[in-house]
Amino acid sequence: MSKHLSPEIRVPIEPGNPSVERIEEKCIKCGNCRDICRDYISVLGYYDLAHTDDTAVCIHCGQCANVCPTGAIRETPETAYVKAAIKDPEKVVIVSTSPSVRISLGEEFGMPDGSFVEGKMVALLRRLGADYVLDTNFGADLTIVEEASELVERITRRDPARPLPQFTSCCPAWVKFAEMYYPELLPHISTAKSPIGMQGPTIKTYFAKKMGIDPKSIVNVALTPCTAKKYEIRREEMHAAGRYLGIEDIRDMDYVITTRELAAWAKEEAIDFPSLADSSYDPLMGEASGAGVIFGNTGGVMEAALRTAYAYITKTPAPEKLYELTPVRGMDGFREASVKIGDMDVNVAVLYGTANVRKFLDRQRTNPKDYAFVEVMTCPGGCIGGGGQPKGTQEKGNALLKERIDGLYARDASMAPAKRASHENSEILALYQSFYGKPLSELAEKMLHTAYFDRSALLGEDAGKFQHYQDLHPGQDNTAGAAGQNTASGAAGMNAPAGGAAGDLAASAGVPGRILAHVRPENLNTVRVWKCTVCGEVHIGSEPPAECPVCHQGKDVFIEITGEVTLFRDGDGKKLWECDVCHYLTEGEQAPAECHLCHQDSSHFHQVIAWKCTICQEIVIATAPPVECPVCHQGSSVFSAL
Ligand code: SF4
Ligand code: SF4
Ligand code: SF4
Repeated sequence: MSKHLSPEIRVPIEPGNPSVERIEEKCIKCGNCRDICRDYISVLGYYDLAHTDDTAVCIHCGQCANVCPTGAIRETPETAYVKAAIKDPEKVVIVSTSPSVRISLGEEFGMPDGSFVEGKMVALLRRLGADYVLDTNFGADLTIVEEASELVERITRRDPARPLPQFTSCCPAWVKFAEMYYPELLPHISTAKSPIGMQGPTIKTYFAKKMGIDPKSIVNVALTPCTAKKYEIRREEMHAAGRYLGIEDIRDMDYVITTRELAAWAKEEAIDFPSLADSSYDPLMGEASGAGVIFGNTGGVMEAALRTAYAYITKTPAPEKLYELTPVRGMDGFREASVKIGDMDVNVAVLYGTANVRKFLDRQRTNPKDYAFVEVMTCPGGCIGGGGQPKGTQEKGNALLKERIDGLYARDASMAPAKRASHENSEILALYQSFYGKPLSELAEKMLHTAYFDRSALLGEDAGKFQHYQDLHPGQDNTAGAAGQNTASGAAGMNAPAGGAAGDLAASAGVPGRILAHVRPENLNTVRVWKCTVCGEVHIGSEPPAECPVCHQGKDVFIEITGEVTLFRDGDGKKLWECDVCHYLTEGEQAPAECHLCHQDSSHFHQVIAWKCTICQEIVIATAPPVECPVCHQGSSVFSAL
């Protein structure tokens, strides 16, 4: 018997997952985590617990935590370790801050969405006891210099061992996704480490030497929007400084805390964040370019890398349009552009959401296009929508993500022209001059580049079965839209996720619904509806549940209301309504003014009705046609309302 509750109910999470954990008492079995991991991340449903030794598979993105209405899933906490290091007089605590935290942290303290709070964030970290505060945007600039140099090599040398297109490598969730599902793609993934992957070893070697600090006493902390970074820093390759210094057992980056963890810590200490006076980063690794700033946005890594690659290839500064490359900006889940570099036309693509990656790769399989560079981010909108970010997206959806994106672009645009390309960052130039020599030097390769591993064995014996979206979703056309175009284009089916992370999509009527029940048409009258007399939660099934998922009362408190409600859109009787945020199900003439559970207003409720599959006739009970028919697996378009 499995140790996990059925994946039909919620996403399984393995105890000891370095990125996310579940607090069992808080789980109301709403299924939000299941939906996002299956439909947007495309991990749940793409392995079988029966073939993985009952071990849950995870890419650590934390999107399940972002959509959990009760906080039952959260990032695996590390603040306590950081606090202990701060108290230890033998330790030197160095915090490096990722691009996206400064654009979202203010939300936790009631500041307007999109507030750029870099100075206050640095001040907060100093107040909490950090010895040094450095900017991971510096690491982002370093990543760009190495990654753009690698791209130039791949474009100009055409080495079969380093094929095109080059895929970005800075998202550890995407990297693990590729290692498990697409190991044949690994030679395409840039070997450049992520910004924190470069920041860590550079602090423990270059920075430590310049500042006269014993590397063994350094406790490196990354402040990130990302839960997957908690996994990344624990990968076996992330010990480059230790190998360089000949000190065993030192990890390049010691701890990762998320935006939410930092905000909770500040609140615990009763720090009035909005009133903090701005503070600046410490020098040596605190300067960053505009290119480093936009790293947090989907498309930002691509735009940043092109500014530098253009300069490296042509030996002239990139033209103005590469400083606002609008075709790769925006919230479509897939965008592309063609950029003239010298006499070459370089095709590039930008994706977010790993389900979109499957569709993209399927399309490349059937209708290939010659791309040189592909950026992949797992989270909606890129790292600004990371699994450790403030949870306002549940309520505000893409509008909030857009505020964050605009905030980072505005910061880049406000910088002096000479400060907007990574290879012009004077602290980066000094680092190469006194330590790494030049991009892709032997030392740079050792410290700043990495290797990837085929991890398909994690999926068990049937790994290959889960590779292609089209094989698993026959009849769904995802080939339309993008191929052959040189400007931004939203490819069909490749947008932000439904079901939570992009609230405005989730609230729209056409979003595929979760299946509450499905029956043969002749058995529709056997669908039974039960209501909890304590909290009003409605349950559909042949029996009442053993326990109410909301108030936890036993089965006896349920009464049957089958004849009182209608499952037809315009039928007689009360209607059933489901909240699209927490999945609370209730009955009434109208949608309730406010959700009993998550307190969202009536616009979040949708009527639950019966939908008929026009192919196999199965009847599905849901707020909207499901993603696919549970019997014949046709897509949502084959359903019509009864
Ligand atoms: S409350 Fe919902 S989203 Fe949270 S863990 Fe439980 S089933 Fe998943
Ligand atoms: S962290 Fe991501 S991959 Fe892991 S269970 Fe949650 S949504 Fe799925
Ligand atoms: S997109 Fe960014 S925040 Fe999300 S998993 Fe990848 S690196 Fe982390």
